[in-house]
Amino acid sequence: MAPAPPTGEATQLVETRRLLLDQVADAARRVGRDPAGVEIVAVTKTVPPERIRAAVAAGFGTLGENRVQEAEAKIDRVATGLPTPPAWHLVGPLQSNKARRAMALFEVIETVDSRELAARLDRIAGELRPGRPYRVLLEVNVDADPAKAGFTPAAIERDLPALLELPGLRVDGLMTVGRLVGEAEAARPTFVALRRLSERLRATHPGLGPGLSMGMTDDFPVAVEEGATIVRIGRAIFGPRP
Ligand SMILES: *Cc1c(COP(=O)(O)O)cnc(C)c1O
Repeated sequence: MAPAPPTGEATQLVETRRLLLDQVADAARRVGRDPAGVEIVAVTKTVPPERIRAAVAAGFGTLGENRVQEAEAKIDRVATGLPTPPAWHLVGPLQSNKARRAMALFEVIETVDSRELAARLDRIAGELRPGRPYRVLLEVNVDADPAKAGFTPAAIERDLPALLELPGLRVDGLMTVGRLVGEAEAARPTFVALRRLSERLRATHPGLGPGLSMGMTDDFPVAVEEGATIVRIGRAIFGPRP
């Protein structure tokens, strides 16, 4: 049977993806980086499963959700019948009583923000999948914004050795949620701070991976210029959220 012709939405998502990849590539080349070193996580919060499926069909292979409960309601429905199910990242805060559910749903938890949460994930990983470390990023509140989650730079400095010793976790790198800014350029100091922190920590702690998850719809080209390996993009793909 011939595949169904693409709908208007599918065509538009293919075009959107191409434009985003172009913007990522332009930003990477401006600073001499290989564009292949940047992954787009399509953030699907509030987006219904059918539209997410269209995005996967358009080539978005890595998706992000910020709530365990919402992800739980959608992930199976998105995957049904797809030849290659997408990989999911948790990009929102995780309460430790939901850690087990989150690990069953997500390939990567980008928002590990305390030693206690890391220890809990490590214990569960040891039970569920011994010998196969679970991938995490450590969320850092580089701007020391009281309204935001994440390790302060001082706390991560203090806790990193213990975190890197947890056998059930593989720490791929650092993640930050930038300040809400009027224009992209205003986010640059946050991204620079995260990159420098990563460089500094890795010089003495080689177990910390080089991943840097930073940049969203309004500022991802700047984040790529400053070294992002993951950009988390929602509205530029799916339009404004309700
Ligand atoms: C919603 C969200 C995004 C995507 O934001 P957009 O501005 O829609 O691109 C990225 N990261 C996190 C943590 C989010 O919650």
